[in-house]
Amino acid sequence: MNLIKLPRAALEILVPRFCVLCAGFVDSAHPWPLCDSCAATLAPIVPPACPACGRALISEVGMCVRCRSRDRPYGRVEALYAYAGSAKDLVGAYKFAGRTSLAYFLADVVAQRLRHSFPGRVLIPVPPRPGKRKANGWDQVDVLATILQRRYGIVVMRVLKRRGRSQQKRLNAQERFANAARSYSLIRRAITVPADPVLLDDVITTGATLSACASILRAAGATTVDALALATD
Ligand SMILES: [Zn+2]
Ligand SMILES: [Zn+2]
Repeated sequence: MNLIKLPRAALEILVPRFCVLCAGFVDSAHPWPLCDSCAATLAPIVPPACPACGRALISEVGMCVRCRSRDRPYGRVEALYAYAGSAKDLVGAYKFAGRTSLAYFLADVVAQRLRHSFPGRVLIPVPPRPGKRKANGWDQVDVLATILQRRYGIVVMRVLKRRGRSQQKRLNAQERFANAARSYSLIRRAITVPADPVLLDDVITTGATLSACASILRAAGATTVDALALATD
């Protein structure tokens, strides 16, 4: 038997894949390790949602109470999922457990959302901490951006960089905004930025990162900066 001539489905049987959420076998129709039943348990956020943090609005109108007191330099944020339940497990498996092949699933969902909510817009990935790629071997937002670019033809511009190695997660909200504001910059001065880019990030918590990145892009000439995140916490 010639292995090279085996159809792809047969190869999948030889190399079975297991679902990251339930450990069951995954249908070979998709290139990602997530079964159809678990994918069906992911509850996407449906409008109306807060334009500042992407959370679903239940009884509030316009904007959630948490976001009303703060000015923001970005326009609208959309998040695919609330950071809870199976969506949290999924994003966690992707972010922290190094399940890079989940990027294909997430990129597929992100591409659909971009087409629906931000058609034709240039995507700018939020950059990782310096040294993160070296330490982990990859950066989850950048891997997504690469698939979106290559598989879905979305225009991606990597115009931002991050300095400083401090992690945001140990800081309170006020410290996060101050830290984020000094952590990001353009990759070089006088770079041309798109007029209405969409920032891509993984999980939104306080919005400090989006605010910092959007301020830089606005100062560099962008008129509207929106954002899309995998999840909102
Ligand atoms: Zn499953
Ligand atoms: Zn909000």
